[in-house]
Amino acid sequence: MKARDRLRIAIQKSGRLADPARELLARIGLSFRESRDRLFCYGESLPIDLLLVRDDDIPGLIAEGTCDLGIVGRNVLAEQAENRRAAGQAEAYRELRTLGFGSCRLSIAVPQDDAGQPASALAGKRIATSYPGLLEAWLRERAIDAEVVLLSGSVEIAPRLGKAEAICDLVSTGGTLAANQLVESEIVFESEAVLAGPPDGFGDERAGLAALFLRRLDGVLRVRD
Ligand code: ATP
Ligand code: ZN
Repeated sequence: MKARDRLRIAIQKSGRLADPARELLARIGLSFRESRDRLFCYGESLPIDLLLVRDDDIPGLIAEGTCDLGIVGRNVLAEQAENRRAAGQAEAYRELRTLGFGSCRLSIAVPQDDAGQPASALAGKRIATSYPGLLEAWLRERAIDAEVVLLSGSVEIAPRLGKAEAICDLVSTGGTLAANQLVESEIVFESEAVLAGPPDGFGDERAGLAALFLRRLDGVLRVRD
């Protein structure tokens, strides 16, 4: 891979992790000259640049080496790692730090009438989700034979539409579930925002920059604790 002397960090362009990620980088002492299209932000205080992208793209950008580090939900990272594993691909990223924001859980939820049933009652049912990798791994571990229905969004309305008997989706307060007459029944995966990087370090000047970045990040995270 071509040697690079600037570090590139991918963060979510807009969404739940966008503002806290920007805030964290500011507290680390990074400042940026925003480009007009706001996809690429040039680092002014250090040779560390930003790429503003969809959160789902972050693991892939790290895997292909387009970005060096990324701030992303562990749920997204683990789902894509699971899919790589299933496809027989090598591990392509590593969780370097947990960042203390963006907490949520990937949970199975069922219609209120089915509340209180054991996990084994999911057998033979259809579960709608955008996280097939994590859900299938969870079902496999418990030897529950359920059908996973892949939906890219609006998973919570699947039971009402007759597309599934249960859902598996991200929950933080539970407000969305309650609004759709669903009850959380099983936690499949616990998540928060993490700093991700490649499984091996960097072979050029980015190694020193990454070390400096991590040192400063650790300082900020310690104060927060
Ligand atoms: P993008 O346009 O970047 O694809 P998105 O709609 O996939 O955005 P958001 O809804 O902004 O993403 O969520 C980003 C991340 O925030 C999630 O992957 C998850 O890690 C975290 N998160 C925290 N609480 C919640 C929640 N209640 N629902 C969904 N995500 C949550
Ligand atoms: Zn997304």
